[in-house]
Amino acid sequence: MSRPQQPAGSATHQSLSLHVATVAGIPIRIHFTFFLFLAWIGFSGGTNGGVSWSLFLVAVFFCVVLHELGHALVAKRLGVTTRDITLYPIGGVAMLEGRPKPKQELWISLAGPAVNLVLAVLIALVIVLVEGSFPRLDLGMQHSSFLTQLWIANVMLAVFNMIPAFPMDGGRVLRAWLGLRMAEARSTQIAGGIGQGLAIILAVTGLRTQSFVLVLIAIFVFVGAAQEISGTVTRSFLEGHILADVMLTRFRSLTSGESLDTAANLMIHNAQHAFPIMNGDEVIGLLTRSQLAQGLTEDGPTGYVARWMLRDFKVAGPNDPLEQAVDRFSQADPSPILVMEEDQLLGILAMENLSEFIMLENAKARRVQPTQRRI
Ligand SMILES: [Zn+2]
Repeated sequence: MSRPQQPAGSATHQSLSLHVATVAGIPIRIHFTFFLFLAWIGFSGGTNGGVSWSLFLVAVFFCVVLHELGHALVAKRLGVTTRDITLYPIGGVAMLEGRPKPKQELWISLAGPAVNLVLAVLIALVIVLVEGSFPRLDLGMQHSSFLTQLWIANVMLAVFNMIPAFPMDGGRVLRAWLGLRMAEARSTQIAGGIGQGLAIILAVTGLRTQSFVLVLIAIFVFVGAAQEISGTVTRSFLEGHILADVMLTRFRSLTSGESLDTAANLMIHNAQHAFPIMNGDEVIGLLTRSQLAQGLTEDGPTGYVARWMLRDFKVAGPNDPLEQAVDRFSQADPSPILVMEEDQLLGILAMENLSEFIMLENAKARRVQPTQRRI
């Protein structure tokens, strides 16, 4: 189903989900809301076949896992890492690391729906063998056998996901196909616009036929497209820039023997959020805001910075592309990157520097050229 590519938020979804299996090195997790959903279906079904309905849903979600594995395994073959696969009541999410190129995205996005098509063909073959006739696409599903219902679910999963609108796979296929011909920001805007147009048609149809589900899907599609467009436009501001363009070059560092109180005072008076810890000319650690706070709580102001600094800090070169650096900030690890050339510390890049840079680039891009200005 949908596959957000930003690692942001991964900490929260990891802590609220249960790791159930690992396939080809990819952890598969189930979000706690999924268990609530299953329990609710089981109980609310009551005498009305609740348990068999739950079993059917488990079977459908097994197919959804295979769909996500389709994305993840093709991604792996093309050199794109999948952080994990998480199951939510609305479907599965395969979290990719970094951003695939249009050609990679095209194949990765097609792989999920292709899995459901293959499953549909296999299930249809079993139905023909067992029941003697080809299944009918009866969407009411009440009178169909378990296998026929599963066949319908897979046909629907393939068709629904190929709708050319974000966050469905079809939207990504469209963006990737356009992306082979034009810049990413442009292709996302066009694909997102088409998705939003479809969402409006869906919403109007839903309102006219009083179908609440259709209106909900329309809102889901509309918001998904808007997020994808703004994310890509933001990213396009980073294109062509290197770390040296954005990094903090005037900063204070501390030595390992200094106290947490010294660090706290510097943070207040210099508005610097992290301090490199030096031993002579060598960087031996990084004291971040959260490390400092934790140290003050446990050791008090006289504690040493050396006890609380991160020894395993992020390092990048001044000429590294900014787009790569962005992927190294996540909710789980928002700590700044130290920009170094050989062993020499040149600057610091924190998330705050990046968001200020994006804000200023955005302001420049919005400036109306004098010749275009209306009188
Ligand atoms: Zn998918």
